[in-house]
Amino acid sequence: MQIPFNRIYVSGREIEYIKDCMVRHGIAGNGYYTQKVQDFVADKFKAKKVLLTTSATTALEMAALLIELKPGDEVIMPSFTFVSTANAVMLRGGKPVFAEIDEKTLNIDPEDVKEKISANTRAIIPVHYAGVACNMDELTAISREYNLFLIEDAAQAINALYKDKYLGTIGHIGCYSFHGTKNYSCGEGGAILINDIEEDLIKKAEYIWEKGTNRSSFLRGEIGKYTWLEIGSSYTPAEILAAYLYAQLEDLELIRECRCKIYYNYYNNLLKYEEEGLLQLPVIPSYAVSNYHIFYIIFPSQKHKGYVQEKLKSRGIETASHYVPLHISPMGQKLGYRKGQLPRTERLAANLLRLPLYPDMSASEQEYVLENLHEVLKELE
Ligand SMILES: *Cc1c(COP(=O)(O)O)cnc(C)c1O
Repeated sequence: MQIPFNRIYVSGREIEYIKDCMVRHGIAGNGYYTQKVQDFVADKFKAKKVLLTTSATTALEMAALLIELKPGDEVIMPSFTFVSTANAVMLRGGKPVFAEIDEKTLNIDPEDVKEKISANTRAIIPVHYAGVACNMDELTAISREYNLFLIEDAAQAINALYKDKYLGTIGHIGCYSFHGTKNYSCGEGGAILINDIEEDLIKKAEYIWEKGTNRSSFLRGEIGKYTWLEIGSSYTPAEILAAYLYAQLEDLELIRECRCKIYYNYYNNLLKYEEEGLLQLPVIPSYAVSNYHIFYIIFPSQKHKGYVQEKLKSRGIETASHYVPLHISPMGQKLGYRKGQLPRTERLAANLLRLPLYPDMSASEQEYVLENLHEVLKELE
């Protein structure tokens, strides 16, 4: 049997909606389906303002523009994240400052965030790894105390909660991804959520989003013609993508339910190894509702991880490591960071392996993964 690491979800309505925009609504950005998706996300997650973007990468870039990040400004984020979190800051001349992650959730450690605050700190970007919430009460308290922007990198965290609030709606700004590898996808796509900051920032976000113009107001019939007001860029995805995405979002809960079942089937079958001290399984704190984006295992060493990954590969099962911590990447080193500075991050990242998980994974496919995993893990005991 061949088990890919990821397989895209298809609702079956994608083509129908794409055809609909070809025939009736037009295919450029900021049209019928963009509005439908934005309204859906705003209603469902109780977000104040939602703008669909071409990716989470560009949503993060918009966020940096929106808070007017300046050269020399520092932004605290985990090192255990995707490059886009840091690039968004660097593109404005800012400096990413990397903080440690929590042992259990692999999310940014609020205690270390406090340690890293300086006179130049402007913002914190927590990342909700695997769709599991960071400790938002603690991070919100820090952002208030030091007057910092709190920007959630919720790229992996759509339809997941912290207490009774959806991730992406808690910080001043939230960023979503609809990349092909994420739970809800249109190939390449994202969204920026503007939460409880003043009304004029919402206006400004719309300008930045539409090439620095007030075209959004024009489309709503509020003004007769539109003009240039701000620096901005082209962040609106084509309607074709928004139409595809709408077909996915209609199955929002179904997708989470399918993933949940697979997640807990892995968890329950592997728990005995954790109890034996052979490996570490993911933790969902009681304050969080996950969207089950990732199921990972943390091994006692990189050697164990590599061994299991190789063995599974030879049996047709594709698994994956995750981020090389940014502070030890070549770019991180150029910024002056060194190996050894964030030992917890380095160890967890080196020993982590992600298992295949997707909504239409069949029971026999998952059984095949588990059977082989049991066999390989026996060799480690
Ligand atoms: C996927 C991801 C991104 C980037 O998303 P794109 O939509 O591909 O740009 C950023 N941050 C995190 C944490 C991610 O997982």
